[in-house]
Amino acid sequence: RAKGSHGDAICFYEEEMDERVRERRAMALQLRAALAEDQFFLVFQPQVSVRDNEVTGYEALLRWRHPVRGVVQPMDFIPIAEDTGLILPIGEWVLRAACRAAASWDTPLKIAVNVSALQVGSIDMPDIIHGILMETGLSPQRLEVEITETSLIQDAERTLHILRRIKAMGVSISMDDFGIGYSSLSTLRSFPFDKIKLDKSFMDDLDRGPQAAAVIRAVLALGESLDIPILAEGVETKAQLDFLAQEGCTQIQGYLVGYPGEEAGEGGTSADVDQLPLTVDELPLFRN
Ligand code: C2E
Ligand code: MG
Ligand code: MG
Ligand code: MG
Repeated sequence: RAKGSHGDAICFYEEEMDERVRERRAMALQLRAALAEDQFFLVFQPQVSVRDNEVTGYEALLRWRHPVRGVVQPMDFIPIAEDTGLILPIGEWVLRAACRAAASWDTPLKIAVNVSALQVGSIDMPDIIHGILMETGLSPQRLEVEITETSLIQDAERTLHILRRIKAMGVSISMDDFGIGYSSLSTLRSFPFDKIKLDKSFMDDLDRGPQAAAVIRAVLALGESLDIPILAEGVETKAQLDFLAQEGCTQIQGYLVGYPGEEAGEGGTSADVDQLPLTVDELPLFRN
């Protein structure tokens, strides 16, 4: 290994790497315990129809109440759960908790559940979903499974077979984070998705220049011609909503119309926040 004037820096770097690896290992152990200790919970973010501003369903988003760190966001533990295979039991917990919650609602709205590549590549998945629907009494028409393109990278044939079996039960399948994967368009040919969720990055770009508008228009036209509804994710401003409405987008999700809340419908919106003498960032309780 090269030593010299950068020796200390390399050493520091390696120590930092070690620290990272140790931290991930500790997290993996804690994640395993988290299921038994009942430390997971779901928050629910509304999906809203552009035409009449009605809530059409909720997406279930996972949170981990860590005994020391407090509430941990999925970005900080889902990758570890995926690497360790723990996403299989955790994902099953999410499905069961989400279906149970939806079954208890007064109105028969849909519940969307995120499912990782490993889950949807597992041949047991259709039976697991079927069992949970039976157990909770939720109608399959009310369940929506969100997958990302990553799910179709490895062993696409097998995954498509599993998706077909899930769809055959009456469960719908959405393509999440559309537009950021490397093969978005060919993915759409491979399966009759019930919904396409346009990734939030397109909303971010919309404020930065005219190119994003052109791309969003193209995606909406694609949805139109394939007869697949497009939901725009991460809508935060009235200007973004106005643009989407004008271009014929039918569904949105985002802080403008609803933050994730522990009970469906109690997350509040940034439209509410606008009425208050505070900025969104000053309201940590609303930020899930
Ligand atoms: P996703 O499925 O694309 O979920 C949308 C994410 O965007 C959520 O973040 C949501 O809170 C956030 N979001 C929604 N509207 C807005 C907005 O207007 N502005 C901003 N800045 N953010 C918004 P969250 O809950 O942190 O989840 C991140 C990702 O973690 C999810 O992205 C999903 O890929 C994954 N995830 C969450 N729950 C689960 C789960 O139960 N299983 C699996 N496998 N993955 C999950
Ligand atoms: Mg978040
Ligand atoms: Mg999602
Ligand atoms: Mg997404």
